[in-house]
Amino acid sequence: MVIYVIGHKSPDSDSVCAALAVADLKRQLGDDVEARVAGEINSESRFILEKFGVGVPDILEDASGKEIILVDHTDLSQAVVGMENAEIVGIVDHHKLGDVTTSKPLEILVRPLGSTCTIIKGLFDYYEKRISREIAGLMLCAILSDSVIFRSPTTTDEDRRVARELAEIAGIENLEELGMEMFRVKSEVEGVLARDLVMRDYKDFEMGGKRIGIGQLELVDLELVAGIRNELLEEMRKLKDEGRHAVFLMLTDIMKEGTELLCVSDEEGLRERVFGDSEDGWLEGMMSRKKQVVPELEKYFSS
Ligand code: MG
Ligand code: MG
Ligand code: MG
Repeated sequence: MVIYVIGHKSPDSDSVCAALAVADLKRQLGDDVEARVAGEINSESRFILEKFGVGVPDILEDASGKEIILVDHTDLSQAVVGMENAEIVGIVDHHKLGDVTTSKPLEILVRPLGSTCTIIKGLFDYYEKRISREIAGLMLCAILSDSVIFRSPTTTDEDRRVARELAEIAGIENLEELGMEMFRVKSEVEGVLARDLVMRDYKDFEMGGKRIGIGQLELVDLELVAGIRNELLEEMRKLKDEGRHAVFLMLTDIMKEGTELLCVSDEEGLRERVFGDSEDGWLEGMMSRKKQVVPELEKYFSS
């Protein structure tokens, strides 16, 4: 039976590239494995795949009854439909452990590194398998994307070292330049519906029995969204009314290295209570949903 490797819904570049890299590694190990995505890929991922001449994986609509390797997530709320009825045979991830369960022993590797692809590079080395130029390029870009070109507090020395090794294989000399090129593509907002912007890099979480949505836009300049804040808030409100306790949107300025945190909730003053008072919701130094937003909200909602 074919095994599908797949990342989270609203796929980001780490989810897409990690699925392709694990599929490549597993095929070299003799398994029948195919990469899939959990939805339309974003413009940054499209740019990366084009740059290294790799095709876009098909979308997996329903995981029920399938053998699955999960990458870049373990929360059912972020997984493709039917994951609770799938046979999960492997996990490679760098987030907090979610709520998936398995019926059989599985291969699982979760490490607190800057990207899933950093962990996968270690797997190639462990199994002594060759990394092609294309796969090296994809993994490098995923590391640059997830670590916000090494600016995010999630970045580790291992991410920097692995990125350099992959750049060597991929024939890339200037990482900062490649990273900025990716983030300029990722920052494009013109002509994009406000709903699609909120959903571009969006995740649902279950916290203390409540569903909390957190989206993030990583932008080279917050001026890009200055004119559409109200539209974004309106879409967040609609999303909240679909059964969520609160919806957050991180407007992250990757150059100024901080985030304007938008929040919509029936719970008055929620953002201030959790993240403190701040002028216009600007939080200096906040870059990471995983490390700086989710843990604070988990603490608040589970106490
Ligand atoms: Mg991800
Ligand atoms: Mg990731
Ligand atoms: Mg990210």
